[in-house]
Amino acid sequence: MKALNADLHCHSTVSDGLLAPAELVRRAKENGVELLALTDHDELGGLEEARTTAGELDLPFVDGVEVSISWGDDQTVHIVGLGIDPANQVLIDGLTQVRSGRDARAGRMAAELDKVGIHGAYEGALRHAGNPSLVSRSHFARFIAEQGHAKDVKSVFDHWLAKGKPGYVEHAWATLEDALRWIIGAGGTAVIAHPGRYRLSKAERRQLFVAFKDLGGRGIEVLSGANKDEEVREFSRIAREFDFLASRGSDFHGPGESWVDLGKMPDLPEGLTPVWSRLV
Ligand code: AMP
Ligand code: MN
Ligand code: MN
Ligand code: MN
Repeated sequence: MKALNADLHCHSTVSDGLLAPAELVRRAKENGVELLALTDHDELGGLEEARTTAGELDLPFVDGVEVSISWGDDQTVHIVGLGIDPANQVLIDGLTQVRSGRDARAGRMAAELDKVGIHGAYEGALRHAGNPSLVSRSHFARFIAEQGHAKDVKSVFDHWLAKGKPGYVEHAWATLEDALRWIIGAGGTAVIAHPGRYRLSKAERRQLFVAFKDLGGRGIEVLSGANKDEEVREFSRIAREFDFLASRGSDFHGPGESWVDLGKMPDLPEGLTPVWSRLV
């Protein structure tokens, strides 16, 4: 049987993506996506537009969100919520709270960048974000690249914005408990985003999976962006061991800025239960 081309992780201009929700949905349709979730960072504001456009194009659509959490010793982890009710007030209030920290963090980042000779970064990033509560490292990266300090957005992260680099500042996001309470309380399914991207030891990663499952977490992105085969095998094994549902998401942010385009990932490995068996 042909596998469903599901893409359950991507971003629009309502967080740090480059395409408006409607444009993103049109691109997904053109790329052959058969089930799409929009998962902006800590934001639900693009869902209505995306859902309307998806309806016009006959593309099945899932309301999603990607919640930023802090875990352990200043590690940032992302939890995707799929099939959430965007009208759920506890979820709305929780996400508003998470976003409210971004502006002050951006100010601290800009102060650190100023010390290493990158001036005006707060204003520059804000110009890209359009809204102080949405300012992310991606917006800083676009500003820094445009100033000619690096050849592209990815190398800006390597030099200035990744943990341990001059523009990185510690920040308290939501807790794992909060994120799961909000997502599950809004009728959603919680999924660990891009498990290969965290700088955690194997033991710490297991602790995360155990805590996530204990709190009602159900899924893991077995396919995320441009995963290496070895990672796909490892996360397939984890999915089986923890009885997690398997998700598939490009984490697309925009043309030229992403590892993989909408819907352009391999199929999920055989024998896993796709998370969309719960969503459609
Ligand atoms: P923030 O939530 O402000 O910490 O920004 C995190 C965002 O930066 C992620 O959602 C990605 O879109 C982007 N990002 C993080 N690390 C990298 C990287 N190494 N290369 C490109 N983009 C990255
Ligand atoms: Mn992002
Ligand atoms: Mn993420
Ligand atoms: Mn993402």
